[in-house]
Parts: sequence; C-alpha cells; structure tokens
Amino acid sequence: MKRLVGLICPRCKKDLVENEEGVECPACGTGYTFNEGILSFLTPEDRFNETLYEEHQIANWLQTSDLRRRIRSSPFLSLLNAIRIRFSLSGRRDRVFLKELKRSRTPNPLILDLGCGGGRHYFCRFGRVVGIDPVLPLLQRARELYDEVYQCNGFHLPFADESFDFVVSTDVLGHLENRDKDLLFSEIHRVLKKGGRTIHCSEALGDSPWWRFARSYPDLFQKYFIDLPGHVGMELPSEMRARFLKHHFREVRFSKLYSLIQEPGALSSVFDNEYREKCRCMRALVAMDKLVARSLILRELLNVILEPLAQLDDALTPLNYGGGLLTVHEK
Ligand SMILES: [Zn+2]
Repeated sequence: MKRLVGLICPRCKKDLVENEEGVECPACGTGYTFNEGILSFLTPEDRFNETLYEEHQIANWLQTSDLRRRIRSSPFLSLLNAIRIRFSLSGRRDRVFLKELKRSRTPNPLILDLGCGGGRHYFCRFGRVVGIDPVLPLLQRARELYDEVYQCNGFHLPFADESFDFVVSTDVLGHLENRDKDLLFSEIHRVLKKGGRTIHCSEALGDSPWWRFARSYPDLFQKYFIDLPGHVGMELPSEMRARFLKHHFREVRFSKLYSLIQEPGALSSVFDNEYREKCRCMRALVAMDKLVARSLILRELLNVILEPLAQLDDALTPLNYGGGLLTVHEK
C-alpha cells in the first residue's frame, strides 16, 4: 500500500514493513494491526488512551463533527460560516489557521493534524492531511475527510523524520499532562520538515481577573475547569512560550485568546454552577450571558462587534491574561 509518509516503529524508530494484518517492525518484532479498518499504534499497554475520554466528551466531539457536516452540506450555512470566520471573535482560531496555511510556500503541502478528532474539512483545501487521534469513533469521522488517519497518541509518532510541512492541533495541548509535553514537542520537531511550521490553538491557564476569581475556589476550579473538560495539562502562556523555545522552535506568532473579553456563552459555560452563588455580580453576568448566547444570530452579531474590542484587549493586557493561545512556530 502506497502511503503519504513513511511509517516507523513508534518504539524503536525503525522502518515498518507492511503485511496482511497491518505493519510489522523488523527490528523489535512488534506488529501493529487494524482496529475497525484503521491502522492502530496503540499497543495493549497504550490502550488506556481509549478509555481516557469519557462518553460525554466523545458525545460532545461527535456533536461538533455533526454540526461541521451540516455546515459543509449547505451552501448557505457555508457562506455564513465563511463570513463568521472572516470577521468574528469566534472565528479567530480558524482565521489564523487559514492565513498560515494559505501562505505555504510548498505546493500541496503535507499536514499532520494532531488529535484530529472528527477532522476539519478546510485543512484539505490546502494540502494532503494525515490525522491521528486515540479515539476511534472520532477517527472514523475524520477518515471521511482526510487522506489518511491513524490511531495513536502524539508521544511516539509512527512517522519518519521530517515528513510534514505543517503540524497542527486545536484544543489538544491542554488535554495532555504537562509531564508528557516535552515528549510531544520533541516528536513534533522530529516529524516536521526544516522550515515547516507548527500551528496550535490551545487552552492555557489564564491569569486574568476571570481566572483569578475561578481559582479562588480551588475545589470548584478542579471540578469545572480541569476535570469536567478534561484539561489536565494547563500551563500559563509564558510557560507554553518557554516550552516551544526550549524545543528550538522559532516563534512566528504567539497571541492570546480569551483575555478580558469573552465570547458570548463562554462565561455561562464555566460559571453557571456553584460559582454563580459565590457573588451577586457573577450571577447577573451568567444570566445575561445565557440570554444572549441563546440566540445564534444575536451571539454571532455580538461576536462581530466584540472582535475589534478583543484586539484592543489583546494589545493592552499582559500575555498571561490569555485563557487560550494561538501559536505559530517554525523549525
Ligand atoms: Zn520496533
């Protein structure tokens, strides 16, 4: 079978050979087989990854993938979405990805989507896409869009050195334990071509007044900011920046998301619980936020109005206010 990238053994990094059941490492003898039609590099010891995510999280991700499918199949919704991406606060992350990928000097670049979930169709407009994820039901979705998908984690990638022009991820870095991140970063560096770029949109441990309020109740913080969304590896923006530099990436862009100005619906998504009862001000804010977020039209209209204010916010507040990051680095 002709593949877009050379596959190597995630354990010993030697070239793999294809056989009837999948692929095999001639050096260490490990075989990797198909899991419901998708080549899987999760060894029995690694399979804990399959149960790492709870059903409700997988259901949420599948829902997002359903919504993307609906948008793709309707020209009208696609147009609205294109306008949203161009002008609104909620379109920021997509905007950065599009801008960066458009700039690619390589024709038909090879893109690795780390933790691809159900996949993003617009990556395919710019090149050939390989997706990896440990969650099988999501990979089945991504397979409908991407050229190749593999079941594996990001810590031991089964790809040859310098294979990709881009390595991208969205909402992945905050879901990985900090102690494992150096492993991931060195793998990204290894599989990226020289001059290739790595683009990430990720969660960060913000230090804005919102976050300080949240953290002043450690039990609630653990429950609603860490456990429930599965954000086990949150770092301050400055810590994330240092990590990229430590792995010899050249910084092209390092900007924060969600500083003081929040997208409609964001506050109620994290504070509409016991937090609400902690202060009257928060209760009022949550009620207001829920009201505006209920209508899709109103929410997106506000998103457009808020975008220039958010740019001002970005320019004036400290880097560590960011509850999220948009980063571009070059090898
Ligand atoms: Zn091996």
